[in-house]
Amino acid sequence: MGRSLFLSLVAFSCFIGLLQGSPGDADPVYKACVEQCEKTGCVGSKCFQHCNFSSDGSPVDGPWYLQEPLYVQWKQWDCRSDCRYHCMLSREEERQKLGYKPVKYHGKWPFKRIYGIQEPVSVALSALNLAVQFHGWVSFFILVNYKLPFRPNKKAYYEYTGLWHIYAIFAMNSWFWSAVFHSRDVELTEKLDYSSAVALLGYSLFLAIVRTFSVRLEAARVMVAAPVFAFMTTHILYLNFYQFDYGLNMKVCVAMGIIQILLWAIWAGVTRHPSRWKLWVVVLGGALAMLLEIYDFPPYWGLVDAHALWHATTIPLTYLWWSFVRDDSEFRTSILIKKTK
Ligand SMILES: [Zn+2]
Repeated sequence: MGRSLFLSLVAFSCFIGLLQGSPGDADPVYKACVEQCEKTGCVGSKCFQHCNFSSDGSPVDGPWYLQEPLYVQWKQWDCRSDCRYHCMLSREEERQKLGYKPVKYHGKWPFKRIYGIQEPVSVALSALNLAVQFHGWVSFFILVNYKLPFRPNKKAYYEYTGLWHIYAIFAMNSWFWSAVFHSRDVELTEKLDYSSAVALLGYSLFLAIVRTFSVRLEAARVMVAAPVFAFMTTHILYLNFYQFDYGLNMKVCVAMGIIQILLWAIWAGVTRHPSRWKLWVVVLGGALAMLLEIYDFPPYWGLVDAHALWHATTIPLTYLWWSFVRDDSEFRTSILIKKTK
């Protein structure tokens, strides 16, 4: 379940950006501001150098090699992003004076940027999650390779060792792209973040099935892996190359997350595993954390919103999750050693 948590956590990262049109960007004052800014390059007294291109699309100044179409596109894109950001800030300031609550713009709450980072708190927490995953993985690695005894053929007794190593890679990859996406939200970073989250969810689903049903035979594992990975790959390809459908993606993520949670929850209920309480804590903690994702409130001080808090809750859960994995490896090893004696 822990994993499922994760998964669900991850699944919930799928929630970001669900809304493409939001009340904020439908506001006529905001719209007029962005339109004006894209023409003049200024919001009030603030002007942006990114908007310094002439109407035919070539830069006003700068060396010849910068006059590439791609560079111009980049510039126009940056200009729009700056305009939207500063129009949002000025509009939110006005609204606050009038006593209105914050509204979303283009699917996102009005966050204050720090050093150009869009959601600094979510970035910091994603980085921390990555660090905790790494710590969990290294401690597992050390336990299995240096502390626990080996089989006579020099392999670890624990049958799921390799699978957890791969899991760690998927998890760290997913948090890395989460940090990148929260720093700068563009199509590419969004696709990478969502795809990594789906890949992690799919892999964890496979792992949940294999572990809870104690699938040890290579051939049987392949039979579990084939349909799960085929589905996951198809979904990722669909999102990236056919249609980026937030609603569909959320359904897929939630479905994969719920199946894993149920698998772990039921298993934690029937097994006599000594560390099953850790699974319970992770499952319950994850379920509570999900509430944060559903109860979506605007950011405090323009920095901390529900999604950021949700990323905070996954940190202790991840720690406990890896602690369960370590316990599991010791538990299985002790059982297998007793059997061979
Ligand atoms: Zn996130």
